[in-house]
Amino acid sequence: MEGPRVRVRYAPSPTGRLHVGGVRTALFNWLFARKHGGVFILRIEDTDLERSTEESVEQLKRSMRWIGLDWDEGPDIGGPHAPYRQTERLELYRSAARRLLESGTAYYDFATPEELTEFRRRARAEGRPPIYTGGPYRDMDPEEALRRVRMGEPHTVRFKTPREGRTVFEDIIRGPVGFDNATIEDFVLMKSTGTPTYNFAAAVDDAEMEITHVIRGDDHISNTPRQILIHRALGHELPAFAHVPQVLGPDRKKLSKRHGAASVEDFAEQGILPEALFNYLALLGAGYAADEEIFTPEELARRFRLEKVSGNPAVFDEQKLLAINAVYIRRKSPEELAMLAAPMLSERGVAEAGELERDMPRLVRIMALLRERLQRTTDIPEAVGYFYGGKLDYDQEQFEKQFGKEFVRENLPELYERLKALPEWTADAIEECVRGLAAEKEKGARHLIHPLRFATTGRTVSAGLFETMELIGRERCLLRIADVLERL
Ligand code: GLU
Repeated sequence: MEGPRVRVRYAPSPTGRLHVGGVRTALFNWLFARKHGGVFILRIEDTDLERSTEESVEQLKRSMRWIGLDWDEGPDIGGPHAPYRQTERLELYRSAARRLLESGTAYYDFATPEELTEFRRRARAEGRPPIYTGGPYRDMDPEEALRRVRMGEPHTVRFKTPREGRTVFEDIIRGPVGFDNATIEDFVLMKSTGTPTYNFAAAVDDAEMEITHVIRGDDHISNTPRQILIHRALGHELPAFAHVPQVLGPDRKKLSKRHGAASVEDFAEQGILPEALFNYLALLGAGYAADEEIFTPEELARRFRLEKVSGNPAVFDEQKLLAINAVYIRRKSPEELAMLAAPMLSERGVAEAGELERDMPRLVRIMALLRERLQRTTDIPEAVGYFYGGKLDYDQEQFEKQFGKEFVRENLPELYERLKALPEWTADAIEECVRGLAAEKEKGARHLIHPLRFATTGRTVSAGLFETMELIGRERCLLRIADVLERL
């Protein structure tokens, strides 16, 4: 396929955190650009001054960087079409509006908000669709209109939508889409505040930034004919369009914080690794042949096919995300995991920062032992807790179950003495000691292993007991067993 170099953009409005649906759209743009050796642009659509915040701009950029969506042109790094924030591009929209006014495809509208409300009310009362076509202003003498503008009369600039015909386009994901022009009102291009509407700014920027493919959320599908009308009136070449469906929760409602997590930051806070979220979202509804697999971003890009993306809403599957997350946790080296774990452990009061620092090699070994068992990084403090601190709190019911048996009560003191006397505290030595005693008493080793696990970890399940005990340490293990003996 030879054509102009692919140029795509992700164009968030900075009005909140980066939603999973948004980041999936951004990701599809990124994958498409990388697949075709194209350019991925970040454009901040901040013309809604009331809802846009600087904090949200920073948050969006942080979330994109965290998940690994690097942009080739955009805020902070600039590019040939800078600036990449719409509030810094107002002159461009004003001059495009002047061109449309001059060519007669746009007009000044002086209707007051009250008049517009009255128009809509009347249309509703008469059972007509409230499609505003400019009343007396649509065909007003341009000289007269200009005179009123110069007098300072409040006005908007509206597009003169053709009243006949259809505006159609071929959506790469959904196929042919068409709208009767008669259903499209004369929409506003420039608000009375002198700032552009979303549709106008997006179309002007997509043309100026030479966007070849507009890949965005399907909540914008009804905006597309308006943007096409603007492009045509300005003499632009049309980009291709692809509308990506929403991400829904299991109840088929738009995914929101109610479902547990909905923004990139929510997932980060809940122990999801960026690589895992990237991998999961890239597969979600993307129509790859195998959809439960682990791929690097480069592999995902190589295999990505925009036309394969499903036109149906994607349903978020937390279990699948967690399974992928567990794989990425396992792929981290124990050293990396220890670096990740240390601040969490001191923050949660599991261990003191000083102790952790002095004893990093032990934490590395603990992580090597436990990494298979983690679904989220936030599981770490809970999983690692019993490797630190002194005596444990035991669940009373379980305590009685574990230590109630005659055999255990009789032999735990002897086991304690033998462990205490071990010349070296290694998994092998501990194992030999435990199995030796069980054999002498002609009992299966499990009759000692289960209570010993409970005594030293406070749990009924753990990684291999002997290695676990070695890593918990001799002093700590003996302290805990002695504590149990005292309570029997
Ligand atoms: N600013 C729009 C949004 O955040 C972008 C729509 C588009 O990509 O054209 O929904």
